[in-house]
Amino acid sequence: MAANLVAAVDVGGTSVKAAVYEGVFEGRGFDGERPHVVASLRAATELSGDPAGSVTRQVARMIGELTAATGPVLAAGVVVPGIVDEAAGVARFAANLGWRDAPLRKMLEALLPSPVAFGHDVTAGGLAEYRIGAARGFGSAAFVPVGTGIAAALVLDGKPYRAAGHAGELGHLDVGHGVRCGCGATGCLEVVASASALARRYARRTGKVVAGSLEVVAAARTGDPDAEAVLADAVAALGDGLRTLVTLLAPDVVVLGGGLFRSGEFLLGRVRRRLADGLTFQPLPEVRLAELGDEAGCLGAGLLAADLVAGR
Ligand SMILES: [Zn+2]
Repeated sequence: MAANLVAAVDVGGTSVKAAVYEGVFEGRGFDGERPHVVASLRAATELSGDPAGSVTRQVARMIGELTAATGPVLAAGVVVPGIVDEAAGVARFAANLGWRDAPLRKMLEALLPSPVAFGHDVTAGGLAEYRIGAARGFGSAAFVPVGTGIAAALVLDGKPYRAAGHAGELGHLDVGHGVRCGCGATGCLEVVASASALARRYARRTGKVVAGSLEVVAAARTGDPDAEAVLADAVAALGDGLRTLVTLLAPDVVVLGGGLFRSGEFLLGRVRRRLADGLTFQPLPEVRLAELGDEAGCLGAGLLAADLVAGR
């Protein structure tokens, strides 16, 4: 049998990550183990007046470059951000990529020699955490990356729950602060609790520009009262948002990741306490840090490709 290789590509608004993974595909993609990275590549996202065309050509070229060195792959998995209809193979919308209703799977199939699995980046990252990362071994899981925005990838009773790309918009739960969000509503979680929000709110309060949210967390740890105030708002909003999630879906585990949770157990512990304090009859889920970091999306794309090979 040929080598068990799949290609995986994670398309982001600023960069494209690509890898060739080697794994065992029998029954379950990668068989529960983190696959071996045979080769990898990263490049700035190429956008033009025809973003779907330029991105698909770039993806095909990067896979071509990788497979020239590794040999052919059994399938390719490609994941993109925004609203993605995985069943239809269509990228409905992505704010920073500029496409609308782009039939990306069909476009990729026309450019690539192997079968193509197509999906959503956060959903695929959640699947990777569920199968080979922090949520491994649990029945239902919510994976919540906190970065520029906040989303949730849901795996319910072992199956990713997508609702044609509309499920899991945790960042737009109303947590009651009354400030307007970019989506048009008020009170949205991500307005006070995304990594970008922490940096922005701290800068507005103090006039000090910070490189990112981790600087705000670090300042709070040293007793900076402005950083602590901003962080306390974020912790309260995250804990309350998760309470709604837990009340509705009762996941066994909540995995927190993204840029903000690189700050580790300090922040995680505070969010877990806020969540626990808000629950009465609901069981407190396990609350954990993500394990796969910014490779989660690419690993998830590899899993989708491995599942396609395994006929799942
Ligand atoms: Zn909103």
